[in-house]
Amino acid sequence: MKSFDPTADYAEIREGVAQACARFPGEYWRELDRERAYPKAFVDALVADGYLAAMIPESYGGSGLNLTAAAVILEEIHRNGCNAAACHAQMYTMGTVLRHGSEAQKEAYLPKIASGDLRLQAFGVTEPTSGTDTLALKTTAKRESDEYVINGQKIWTSRAEHSDLMLLLARTTPRADVTKRTDGLSVFLIDLRECVGRGVTIRPIRTMINHSTTEVFFDNVRIPASSLVGVEGQGFRYILSGMNAERILIAAECIGDAKWLLDKASAYARDRVVFGAPIGKNQGIQFPLARAYAHMLAAEAIVYRAAAMYDAGQDPGVEANTAKMLAADASWEAAEACMQTYGGFAFAEEYDVERKFRETRLYQIAPISTNLILSFIAEKVLGLPKSYG
Ligand SMILES: Cc1cc2nc3c(=O)[nH]c(=O)nc-3n(C[C@H](O)[C@H](O)[C@H](O)COP(=O)(O)OP(=O)(O)OC[C@H]3O[C@@H](n4cnc5c(N)ncnc54)[C@H](O)[C@@H]3O)c2cc1C
Repeated sequence: MKSFDPTADYAEIREGVAQACARFPGEYWRELDRERAYPKAFVDALVADGYLAAMIPESYGGSGLNLTAAAVILEEIHRNGCNAAACHAQMYTMGTVLRHGSEAQKEAYLPKIASGDLRLQAFGVTEPTSGTDTLALKTTAKRESDEYVINGQKIWTSRAEHSDLMLLLARTTPRADVTKRTDGLSVFLIDLRECVGRGVTIRPIRTMINHSTTEVFFDNVRIPASSLVGVEGQGFRYILSGMNAERILIAAECIGDAKWLLDKASAYARDRVVFGAPIGKNQGIQFPLARAYAHMLAAEAIVYRAAAMYDAGQDPGVEANTAKMLAADASWEAAEACMQTYGGFAFAEEYDVERKFRETRLYQIAPISTNLILSFIAEKVLGLPKSYG
């Protein structure tokens, strides 16, 4: 497998994304952060430039690029101080739709998603009572002739208010009635425009970062049976493979954050003079930055290795999870080092450091927390007894 060169590979995409991001400087994000407002102009610009349609095949109006290219796009957005959280779901849900969606679903939705007429930004998996234990989720979808009736509740469904479609995971067979524990869950592609106000209620959750996340309630919501993606009862498998894509893409965002934070900290350390010398002359300032850089570089290698495996049709569960954990650790280490380098000024909003510090903290917890990744590696790679489930 050819090794990934982060600067040379996809240079054109990197340059284009950087140009798009230059129109959305720190002030833009600071203002939205204050108001907890959705970055609509930024998302519109990415749609107009075609970046959000990167993974949609050309036959449906997209660019037909692979996950590696999508990872480069998201990394570059974060590398330039912006935040892709407002729109990244379109990329990581795409694999599920492409691999398991029907021809009719692809024809109905993909060209409109590619053109920006439809937004597929909501991904409803997590529930308040089940948390990381996805198989314990309680939202049900019951088949009634040519419809499914949905009841239950999702939490942390980000961007639901800014999405036309939602990819939903719900239980179609009671847990007690399945022979294999991973059976009985199904994926649906739901048209929220038809459902909001007709049984679907969306409630925003104000969080420590600007993330447009919500709770979604389903009360006897009737959707056409044609909303089912793939085969009934097989949804957990589809979502797991989609989660590999999600982990790799989020990891790429972390790499972008780490690079932005390290650039920012290094520039400040070169300029800030205290005791008659730039603070960057002190090893106490240099070493945490150098260490964070080294960790970022190692994480970057595994992120793009996992992406290449995904693109080659392999199942990179271990690599995607490892990439997500190491990249999230690297960005958090860089955030901590950047905060310390900036000293008191790190707390002033105008430098964007405190905002990025808050934003990049998320990835220790979502989309999957570090403990669960360690448990996964312990069990799947090291052959240790399963510690959960
Ligand atoms: C801002 C934000 C946006 C999100 N967006 C989405 C979204 O769009 N769609 C969606 O479906 N979800 C979303 N999530 C949910 C996210 O994926 C979950 O928060 C995450 O997976 C952790 O689940 P939980 O919060 O229920 O934690 P829990 O599962 O309750 O875990 C709490 C803590 O306990 C630890 N823990 C749990 N079990 C074990 C164990 N067996 N061993 C060791 N430690 C354990 C975990 O590591 C964690 O630190 C979002 C979350 C946030 C905060």
